[in-house]
Amino acid sequence: MAMYVYKFGGTSVGTVERIKAVAEKVKAVHDSGDQLVIVLSAMSGETNRLTDLAKQMQDNPVSREMDVLLSTGEQVTVALLSMALQELGCPACSYTGAQVRIETDSAHTKARIKRIDDARIHADLAAGKVVVVAGFQGMDEQGNITTLGRGGSDTTAVALAAALKADECHIYTDVDGVYTTDPRIEPKARRLDKITFEEMLEMASLGTKILQIRSVEFAGKYNVALRVLSSFSEGRGTLITYEESEVEQALISGIAFNKDEAKLTITGVPDIPGAAFKILGPIADANIEIDMIIQNVADDATTDFTFTVHRNDFVKAQEILTNICNNLEARAVTADDSIVKVSIVGVGMRSHAGIASKMFEVLGQEAINIRMISTSEIKISVVIDEKYLELAVRTLHKAFDLDKEPKEVSV
Ligand code: ADP
Ligand code: ASP
Ligand code: MG
Repeated sequence: MAMYVYKFGGTSVGTVERIKAVAEKVKAVHDSGDQLVIVLSAMSGETNRLTDLAKQMQDNPVSREMDVLLSTGEQVTVALLSMALQELGCPACSYTGAQVRIETDSAHTKARIKRIDDARIHADLAAGKVVVVAGFQGMDEQGNITTLGRGGSDTTAVALAAALKADECHIYTDVDGVYTTDPRIEPKARRLDKITFEEMLEMASLGTKILQIRSVEFAGKYNVALRVLSSFSEGRGTLITYEESEVEQALISGIAFNKDEAKLTITGVPDIPGAAFKILGPIADANIEIDMIIQNVADDATTDFTFTVHRNDFVKAQEILTNICNNLEARAVTADDSIVKVSIVGVGMRSHAGIASKMFEVLGQEAINIRMISTSEIKISVVIDEKYLELAVRTLHKAFDLDKEPKEVSV
């Protein structure tokens, strides 16, 4: 007898019919004797709908109340699935995150899981029930409802799998695995049988939203066997694994992109010690996270300083930077929120030179101007104009042969 945690995303529980289909699938596994904990998202579109409602009440909704509101989406689906299972004669019980209980910190709308009390789940499993848990939510020490950030049901599932020491955690979604890039952008994208934690983490943090970053971090830290599969078709999906030697030996494993960033530049900054701090200090004080940073070499004793922030923080960052510009007697502030960051990712990059130059060459051939570059051991990112996103992804996908099964390359 094995124990599994299955998570079904929004599209998989988007209608009553789909919830009934999930119930059939769950019942079949339960009937075969395995123990099952099911984590659900809200119906697709529901979290957005609730967010829109909140914005009709307050421009900047109070985050505590936002969490009370957003958590309702998942409460609907768990109750409905539990009913559907009972209708099929399969014993089931639904719980909210707070009931389980999943304890988080108090960072409303982006809380982190601290502890899970699994006693109730174990008791239900022992009694032969399927346990259905609302994803994306928990409660803090004071009993306030919290949510885990967009895509947070993935993290609920992996955290439960870790706490319960489940044999595997399956993330069922609307694609049949992790692809070389988003198949909605490049139809020639190829499903990967396996991908390393390191690469998956990099892909997730560079914008690939198939798994929430924290779910991959959790799985890596607690050694959870994690698999992404389709709710709608059979198949083995993609296994996220530690075993680099077992994974396809490609130079590049995937292409990620992030449309949520915006770029800000302050020009003519006096080239003196402490200038970078004077620029980024106030940005950090305003709780604005920074991603890429570039500072040019000074020629006329002044330098240009460019960085990227989340688009939600764009207007605020621009205001702060304009003040800084005046205080520092810098030249000007320029800002652009129609950019996108495109990244190529692969552990194969570690031992192979020339990958960055190839990336820049093919983008240049398509007349795509690169505005910023950043690299790490297993990724190269470029910032380009948003209008070139699809062209860049498809060009890179082809140039690095991602549509073909990889040939042997020693990593
Ligand atoms: P769910 O609602 O099940 O959580 P998500 O929308 O969060 O589903 O994630 C699935 C989507 O992720 C897919 O429909 C696909 O468009 C997108 N996606 C982005 N990058 C990739 C990738 N590299 N491989 C597979 N899917 C990807
Ligand atoms: N419903 C939440 C969202 O749309 C959480 C999730 O689906 O993982 O982000
Ligand atoms: Mg998701």
